[in-house]
Amino acid sequence: MSSLPVLVLNSGSSSIKFSVYEAGDGQRAKLHEGAVDGIGTDLGKFWIKDAEGNKLVDQTPALPTRAIAFKLVADALHSGDFPAPVAIGHRMVCGGPTVQENQLITPELIDEMELYTAFAPLHTPIACYIMRESLRLFPDVPNFVCLDSYFHRTMPEVVSHMPIPEEYSAMGVRRYGAHGISYESIVYQLQPNVPKKLIVAHLGNGASITAIRNGECLDTSMGLTPTGGIISGTRTGDIDPGVLLFILRKIAETGVTAAEAADKLEAVASKKAGLLGVSELSNDMRDLRDAIKEGNAKARLAVDKFTWTIAKWIGSYVAELDGLDMLVFTGGIGENDINARAEICAGLSALGIVLDPQRNNVRGEAVISSEHSPVTVRVIPPAEDLIIVNHVVRLLGK
Ligand code: ADP
Repeated sequence: MSSLPVLVLNSGSSSIKFSVYEAGDGQRAKLHEGAVDGIGTDLGKFWIKDAEGNKLVDQTPALPTRAIAFKLVADALHSGDFPAPVAIGHRMVCGGPTVQENQLITPELIDEMELYTAFAPLHTPIACYIMRESLRLFPDVPNFVCLDSYFHRTMPEVVSHMPIPEEYSAMGVRRYGAHGISYESIVYQLQPNVPKKLIVAHLGNGASITAIRNGECLDTSMGLTPTGGIISGTRTGDIDPGVLLFILRKIAETGVTAAEAADKLEAVASKKAGLLGVSELSNDMRDLRDAIKEGNAKARLAVDKFTWTIAKWIGSYVAELDGLDMLVFTGGIGENDINARAEICAGLSALGIVLDPQRNNVRGEAVISSEHSPVTVRVIPPAEDLIIVNHVVRLLGK
């Protein structure tokens, strides 16, 4: 039996998550998973667990820089205590207009993707940094990029094209969407019976919703950047451009430079808005649910805005798909927030979506629609790392 350990890397603003899969001879067995968390602090965490959940590494190092954090991962995987990867898959939100396919990473490819940092400003710089470090620290191992935007590449132009002057469209400004690897993993898990007309709501800290026809993306809520679409933890979602201009002018009145004003506006729209902005309390759904129990009206408004917007979006996607066979909830809120699912579906019976309250009283994978609901409603956790491993194995074989 040949061994093919594949490392999957998923880097965020303060953490690097990773997993190692054995992918030899068609297997997809997770061997280890781990994370370095708390990057930029003296109180970091570095852990690795085996497939049974036993902690094999459990440290609390100082993690002043991302370089130090990633070196810990590389050193552990080179130590001989764990299988050294023979291939590495990197999650990347958006490759820009010129990089739409998952592929082998070269220094030139990273430079090219980095030109479009503005299309995923919170994600691209970090992902590119880790890719460069990975080429340096694993010089003999092929590294592959797996794009969220890959799943959304099938959107027709009428959907992806933005209603802006052509000169900006020519610069690559259009709808790319995000969470594509999660959506791909839901379709994968539904095989071989992928419904013809499917809507998936990925509701996590970032939230989006996608209409899928015959297993391919037809439309998705996130736009050029992950700030577009439905309201989420700290992001506005789609909003009247006049609102952004009003805020921009207010910021400009404080006498900052144009670049500083743009940064401040970006922070308002993507870090201070959404559930956090409306509730003035938290971007975390659990905190908001606790506050609602105590009668907090702003928390109630924030959550109502969230569920209302999602219900509206489901309605428009049913129109685009000309019907619906299945609705799937995924992501931290989609999998765990029983009330959110009930509130979203409450007014959708005319679309054939009828939840069973007992079945919905569940966390994790389940069918939650009533027996007589014309549309099946399911909860399915994403399997993003598995999808990345599948792409890596496919690309290795090329
Ligand atoms: P990310 O987008 O960072 O991957 P997740 O998919 O982990 O986020 O989802 C995080 C969200 O899920 C948070 O808003 C969190 O409050 C919510 N969540 C997690 N568990 C629960 C729960 N039991 N009830 C309600 N919300 C939950």
